[in-house]
Amino acid sequence: MTKIYKFQDDVSTDAFKELEKHSSLAIDTEGSGLQIPYRDKLSLVQFSTGNDDAYIIQPNRKNYKASNIVKILENKKITKIGHYLRYDISGLEYFLKCNVKNIWDSKIASRLCRTYSQNHGLKDLVQEFCGKKLDKRLGSSDWNKNLNELTDAQLQYCSNDVIYLHKIKDALHKMLVRENRLELYENCIQFLKTRIKLDQSGFTEDIFQH
Ligand code: MN
Repeated sequence: MTKIYKFQDDVSTDAFKELEKHSSLAIDTEGSGLQIPYRDKLSLVQFSTGNDDAYIIQPNRKNYKASNIVKILENKKITKIGHYLRYDISGLEYFLKCNVKNIWDSKIASRLCRTYSQNHGLKDLVQEFCGKKLDKRLGSSDWNKNLNELTDAQLQYCSNDVIYLHKIKDALHKMLVRENRLELYENCIQFLKTRIKLDQSGFTEDIFQH
């Protein structure tokens, strides 16, 4: 059973102290839609320590003040593991006005080492490395409801997006080393912030294409 902790506005001091003890944290966000940051807004932030727990925070959408979350995101000693961080970091940096440091992206890693597959969704990685079937049907649901109105199914859904990421990272890291693509992966991660700035400046196409 996943231990789920819910917070309004920001994680509590106690939860912050607990999260800060870890050298890596899984992270995910939910928004009101995919067009972050201009049309859609950041609705939820989730963390996991990798021990079948989920910290679900509903930021204050009026002021987006969450200094504990920002401290975690900016702490370069804590690796933030996410899947397709191009979306999450864009929203986190825009709304929480921060600079996310030390990131690890399972989608980029998967594209570089799982060349035998066309499928690089979180669902596919959870299936392959954790042997679990993720139900993604609640992905498009109303995350702007009051925190205490979110259903158990919604809470479990947004927990599932973070609880498997540590295990997936370990597996993909080994494969990147095996396939001699770790350096290429690291260079892609270096570029991710620039890719996000391009998105936010309206250059959403692949600027390297002919
Ligand atoms: Mn999610």
